[in-house]
Amino acid sequence: MIKEILLCKYGEIVLKGANRKYFEDMLCREMKKRARAYGDFDIYRAQSTIYIEPKDGEADVDGMFTAASKVFGIVAISRAAVCEKSMEDIARVTAEYIPAFLEGKRTFKVEAKRSDKSFALDSMEIARDIGGVVLESCPRIKVDVRNPDVVVKVEIREFGAYVSAGQFKGAGGMPVGTNGRGLLLLSGGIDSPVAGYMMAKRGVRLDAVHFESFPYTSERAREKVLDLAKIVSEYAGDIYVHIVSLTHIQEELVKHCEEDYFTLLLRRYMMTIAERVAKDKDCSALITGESLGQVASQTMQALGVTDACVNMPVFRPCIGMDKEEIVQISRKIGAFDTSIQPYEDCCTVFTPKHPKTKPELEKVLVQENKLPFAELVEEALGTMYTVHISAEY
Ligand code: ATP
Ligand code: MG
Repeated sequence: MIKEILLCKYGEIVLKGANRKYFEDMLCREMKKRARAYGDFDIYRAQSTIYIEPKDGEADVDGMFTAASKVFGIVAISRAAVCEKSMEDIARVTAEYIPAFLEGKRTFKVEAKRSDKSFALDSMEIARDIGGVVLESCPRIKVDVRNPDVVVKVEIREFGAYVSAGQFKGAGGMPVGTNGRGLLLLSGGIDSPVAGYMMAKRGVRLDAVHFESFPYTSERAREKVLDLAKIVSEYAGDIYVHIVSLTHIQEELVKHCEEDYFTLLLRRYMMTIAERVAKDKDCSALITGESLGQVASQTMQALGVTDACVNMPVFRPCIGMDKEEIVQISRKIGAFDTSIQPYEDCCTVFTPKHPKTKPELEKVLVQENKLPFAELVEEALGTMYTVHISAEY
């Protein structure tokens, strides 16, 4: 019988200094929370590693592996087999467990690490002996110490010995919650879920605000946005989505303001309302999916005009990315197929034919002042309601 365990390594760099224990506890708690859906696991940490050890044969190690690979702050995950701290048992487990990982590979080397210095053999001796075991159990494979296809690892640690072959990339970044709270302006598009994912990766806990314009936007469009929030929550944890109606504001804009300015004016309303929501929900920054030059409202001048109405940092992690690069991340996090479902967004109703690409703030304000801005903002805030998206990992 082989018992498999997951070893999740966290980046030393982000965990230095006095905050180290705080980060480590946070990561452990996160893993425990995610493990609940996959059975009974012992989860503990030592030597910059979180150990996830199934307590019985029922636990779903594959499922837990996928869940662990979405935890920010983890740089690498290996699946390892647990051995007793004796060469006999390490050899037995290697012969049984390792061959499956070497199928189709041509070369390997063994790396041994002995943090328990009381173990009888040193690293060189362990590597040599276990290398022999691998060669015996996989007759076609060859040793290549310089550029092997697979590295077989033997680790003699405090709590036991482990053998593994190959390492998987973790989600990287910093544990969610270690870098404050931000409010994501979440539309149904491709970019904003990616923007949320990227800031969560830097440790930001997310709230989201979504603007709708019922009946110009549909129930289904709102559901799509909640589906997207659910996908982002697999990485970012629970998200509260605050939904605000812009229907009246948009109708007033159409009635009273020059068409070319619709989008810009709408964006200033959105940012102002978002800032109010952010302050109310203890968020210290706004996050949008804007990318420089992607559309008329995302030129440098237009972004200047939208930013002029807010007094908190606005993070735009996609700002320097091509659409292709954004799509790549969208696919990686599993959001793309949902994002491309064809439902309307409030930005796409009443769009001007010739939007201003080089707007001047004074001229925008002339248009904006045709309406009771503050009053409309209050009214929109009055329509807000919140949906709690609970993360399923
Ligand atoms: P996305 O793919 O995220 O929809 P986009 O390229 O379609 O972006 P815009 O529609 O101009 O760009 O929106 C720019 C940003 O404004 C979005 O990334 C999002 O952060 C925010 N935004 C747009 N529409 C909404 C909305 N209905 N609710 C909340 N935020 C929105
Ligand atoms: Mg959009």
